[in-house]
Amino acid sequence: MAELNNPKHMFYEDKFEKQEQPYPGLQNKMEPVPDCGEKSYTGHSRLEGRKALVTGGDSGIGRAAAIAYAKEGADVAINYLSDEESDAQEVKSVIEAEGRKAVLLPGDLRDEDFARNLVHDAAKAMDGLDILVMNAGMQQYQKDVRDISTEQLKDTFTINVFSNVWMLQEALEHLPSGGSVIITTSIQGFSPSDILADYAMTKSAQRSFIISMAQQLGEKGIRVNGVAPGPIWTALQISGGQPQESIPEFGQTTPLGRAGQPVELADTYVLLASESASYITGQIYGITGGMPIN
Ligand code: NAD
Ligand code: MG
Repeated sequence: MAELNNPKHMFYEDKFEKQEQPYPGLQNKMEPVPDCGEKSYTGHSRLEGRKALVTGGDSGIGRAAAIAYAKEGADVAINYLSDEESDAQEVKSVIEAEGRKAVLLPGDLRDEDFARNLVHDAAKAMDGLDILVMNAGMQQYQKDVRDISTEQLKDTFTINVFSNVWMLQEALEHLPSGGSVIITTSIQGFSPSDILADYAMTKSAQRSFIISMAQQLGEKGIRVNGVAPGPIWTALQISGGQPQESIPEFGQTTPLGRAGQPVELADTYVLLASESASYITGQIYGITGGMPIN
């Protein structure tokens, strides 16, 4: 019989060392390195032959989704910023070790032409597109609203919101009936923090986009859902996402008393992409260690 584990004590539960990197950060330089399922995720052929594009697939939550998809039998294209090449190469190795195709498509989602072409490039390289995971995100904390520069405001909205719209518009050329769109939103879209005002606004905008698109695309047989993570140990948090003084106890005020690891979200991305979710659309799944989303 398999051992039953206490979720409080699964994965890393000690204090984190303070550590800071410039945006967007490299997870291969983090201590501890986030667990994205390289060894801890086991596939069950739930996405055999599917083709998926995952933005922000080099690290963190997107990497966990990309790795799980490959382990479930899908080919996977990932997008990331060129500074993140070393993280992306690691993901490529894991996908290829599963015998699946890995397509690396670096580029900046603030560039509308790039964001639009990305979808077509991915579909071309994989000969189709069944699953679109829009997960790339920017989060820069500011303790005083007056310190949110216009540049930060525009970048955060462009990456987190506008690129979702641009990419979905293009993806409709490729997504078949049975296709699935998944957007990584956040608990911040439900319970905004004082220091993440601009970011939280983008995460609420994503919530509303998910619900609008689920209604519009139901007729085509395309499902649209979201995932709303709570505090997950990723590069986003140590590259301007949180003040350094919040790093040691990051995630420890959740009911489960610790930060989540990216792999703990992987099964939900797989479920939402798979036919097991045939009657699930327009929903947002909280994966928060117990913090309420409502
Ligand atoms: P991460 O830093 O590992 O991933 C974010 C990715 O976004 C980066 O790897 C980068 O490739 C991509 N990105 C950022 N700016 C980009 C740009 N201009 N062009 C192209 N790609 C760009 O961190 P993560 O926490 O895994 O973030 C993934 C998603 O999860 C984000 O949407 C984030 O808002 C959301 N989220 C994270 C947490 C958390 O606690 N980590 C909580 C809630 C929501
Ligand atoms: Mg990254």
